[in-house]
Amino acid sequence: MRARINRWTPARRNLVFDDDIRTSLVQPHFVVAGKDVDQPIPSMPGINRQSVDVLLKTIDLDMKMGLFSHMLFLVLDAEKKDPTASFASNANSPLHEAIRALKKKYGGEIVIMTDLCLCTGTDHGHCGVIKRNNIENDETVEHLVKIGMSHAKAGSDYISASDMMDGRIERLRGKLEEEGYHSTGLMSYSVKYASSFYGPFRDAAESSPEFGDRRSHQMDIRSGYSEAVMQARNDQSEGADILMVKPGLPYLDVLRKVADAVVRPVAVYNVSGEYSMVMETNKNLLQRALVVREIFNSFKRAGADIIVSYHAREAITENWI
Ligand SMILES: [Zn+2]
Repeated sequence: MRARINRWTPARRNLVFDDDIRTSLVQPHFVVAGKDVDQPIPSMPGINRQSVDVLLKTIDLDMKMGLFSHMLFLVLDAEKKDPTASFASNANSPLHEAIRALKKKYGGEIVIMTDLCLCTGTDHGHCGVIKRNNIENDETVEHLVKIGMSHAKAGSDYISASDMMDGRIERLRGKLEEEGYHSTGLMSYSVKYASSFYGPFRDAAESSPEFGDRRSHQMDIRSGYSEAVMQARNDQSEGADILMVKPGLPYLDVLRKVADAVVRPVAVYNVSGEYSMVMETNKNLLQRALVVREIFNSFKRAGADIIVSYHAREAITENWI
């Protein structure tokens, strides 16, 4: 564990330690190849897939409005996908290009989190390497380390491991130390359920598995608090700088238990299915403002230090919080 990681830059300190809802928000983005691409995602109104040039303009506006923390997801074309997601570690991918451009422009005034999982880069859509119809844990971890290190080299503040493989935080921290990346942080999706609330995201990232599901690695929706606390404490001891509970609203009780059981900062992911429900049923802006404010307060009350939400931009630009 390196306690200094969360204190390393002004933007990290504001995100992690300021209790205000505004500074706790993280906006997710979907990065694609090409130029001038600004493609709406039908199931997630207001969220677009963007090429790097458009993304940089979007984040520039966000920064001016006071939205300083951003999570980037790489969306790959089908021809770039293969069984081991090998293109995901390519330093010339749109994701790596975006990280370098943003860190060069904003340095310590921005927090860049980068999603780490194999599923956006595998042709079968699974979160790991498949052998004999199973996801091979330890082999997958080696690929995750390679991709994670490429994010670190590009300048990511927090590699955000969403894969749910066993032991990947320890391996990532070890490799970061070995190669001298002492200030690169790790956010672990520690308590991630095999939820049905991820549907719209899978449209956005084109990451649905072609067969089977994710129940052999993501947590069973019926599992109790002890399993959640075990996962979070395990990642804490392996060296995670931020621990996450995902989804948010259906698991507020779990969030509270986890926040009480760990000493590291806790993030909550207000996922795509939660977002789409709110957007669908609250077309009126004033009504939506009240609903979103109530949701954000529930996360804070349940112990979240950090809130990843597709509502972040609207909430900040419309001054809802
Ligand atoms: Zn995945």
